[in-house]
Amino acid sequence: MNFSDSEIVASILNQEGYELTEKLENANLVLVNTCSIREKAEQTVRKRLELFNGLKRKNKDLKIGVLGCMAERLKHKFLEEEKMVDIVVGPDAYKDLPNLLREAEAEREAVNVILSKEETYGDIAPVRLATNGVSAFVTITRGCDNMCTFCVVPFTRGRERSRDPKSILEEITQLAQNGYKEITLLGQNVDSYLWYGGGLKKDFLKASTLQQKTAVNFSNLLELVAKAQPGVRIRFSTSNPQDMSIDVIHTMAKYDNICNYIHLPVQSGSNDILKKMNRQHSREEYFELINNIRKNIPDCAISHDMIAGFPSESEKDHQDTLSLMEYVKYDFGFMFAYSERPGTMAAKKTVDDIPESTKKRRLQEIIDLQRVHSEYRTQQFIGKTVCVLIEKSSKRSSEFWSGRTSQNTVAVFPKEKYKVGEFVDVKIEEVTSATLIGIAVGLSSSI
Ligand code: SAH
Repeated sequence: MNFSDSEIVASILNQEGYELTEKLENANLVLVNTCSIREKAEQTVRKRLELFNGLKRKNKDLKIGVLGCMAERLKHKFLEEEKMVDIVVGPDAYKDLPNLLREAEAEREAVNVILSKEETYGDIAPVRLATNGVSAFVTITRGCDNMCTFCVVPFTRGRERSRDPKSILEEITQLAQNGYKEITLLGQNVDSYLWYGGGLKKDFLKASTLQQKTAVNFSNLLELVAKAQPGVRIRFSTSNPQDMSIDVIHTMAKYDNICNYIHLPVQSGSNDILKKMNRQHSREEYFELINNIRKNIPDCAISHDMIAGFPSESEKDHQDTLSLMEYVKYDFGFMFAYSERPGTMAAKKTVDDIPESTKKRRLQEIIDLQRVHSEYRTQQFIGKTVCVLIEKSSKRSSEFWSGRTSQNTVAVFPKEKYKVGEFVDVKIEEVTSATLIGIAVGLSSSI
């Protein structure tokens, strides 16, 4: 999402006459788009800021700005304490950047961290950064209302609001016309998407009857997008189990160009911990959702996010996480040790009481089990022919292309006559736990 936000910021600055440079020493403005999700992310940002400040010694005109969640969380503190930055801009205030740059130029305080009820940047055509010309991100919602107790996002990105489907479709049409072949719809919680004419999701019930009746939900949007661009692969991220509807699963099953892949974070396999995290579903309800996905989309890949060592997590809770993983056998996973975030309910109401060594050990057990499952999943592809969208040269060999299957699994194969952006049928011969290795058998008739 930050990547996509940076594309919006680049577009706003382009209109002001700014240009991108590949060389840091040529820059007279450096903007750091930041993440607050874990303490480590913030530490990384601080290190970067130190590095960029070093450049100021050589170039006195250089301005440094902090964007995103850390800007929102620390606000004026960035100017007061750190003395490392000139501009601080929260996720909803990017349109104010030109004005803030002028303030900074005049050595005045340049901070805007106001969160918005409406801002979706729907009217901004993002400048595609570091693009391969094949895959692009399109933001559909901003903010989050879920209030998971561990999570800082609702505080840094504000309340949830959805973007006008018309502007989403326009952006996607433009991308398709420019040759893009894969679009990922982005939101903190895409399943919660709801357009009823603008405004916050939580105010939906205050809308007129007509607005409520004609509202567009996520499965409607997915269908609109899939139908509008049948030659483009559609992905989305992230799904939240409590908000994912059976309609979304049915829509995925109905359209070939919606990829058979769902990123479905669960965070824990223990009912006690799920409750303490304020995840609004049980382990059993999660299994029901998994069963529904498998029934309707048999070859659907599923991935997860998992947090090890949430406050009070017992050995039994941890075992519940491992057994949940055993049931689902996820294709991939993103796994983290719990990191207490200031201002969250967990930080206010609970003690971060799991020793670092225990968090680390549990995390390692989760990672090890995931590796076994990833390998199990990739092995199912051996001997099969799968459709791969070519994205780039393989890192390991410039003689090989690298792309992904509908299930989001990376596949590599000898380049031969094929080109970036083509859908190719690849016969899989070997696998590692993360990669399929095969040989192209021809251009694909499906996507
Ligand atoms: N709404 C987004 C959230 C992105 S954060 C989504 O559902 O993808 C991505 C992941 O970071 C979360 O799913 C969670 O597993 C992890 N995470 C969030 N807060 C955390 C914390 N305080 N400590 C450790 N991991 C955390």
